[in-house]
Amino acid sequence: MTTSRQGLILRKSTGQILRDGQVIGQRCGQCAATGRFITGVHNGVPTGPGGACFRCAGKGYQTPQDERRNQAYDSYSAARAIRADLAR
Ligand SMILES: [Zn+2]
Repeated sequence: MTTSRQGLILRKSTGQILRDGQVIGQRCGQCAATGRFITGVHNGVPTGPGGACFRCAGKGYQTPQDERRNQAYDSYSAARAIRADLAR
């Protein structure tokens, strides 16, 4: 377990984020919990000047609300790709 400055706890075995003993979200794998948009990896360390991570909105973890939003984005993206494929 790791405690952050904001009092959040990361349960490493499951990737769950806890505040006051309550699970409030899941570690964001897209930005390696940095909250920043990653453009590359240098010696195993995520790098990039990028802005806020789109998947977690810069928090470093995804709440159930973030997961619903990402699922909607993914569905839209998949539908758009299929439509483009069928139009050919
Ligand atoms: Zn993220």
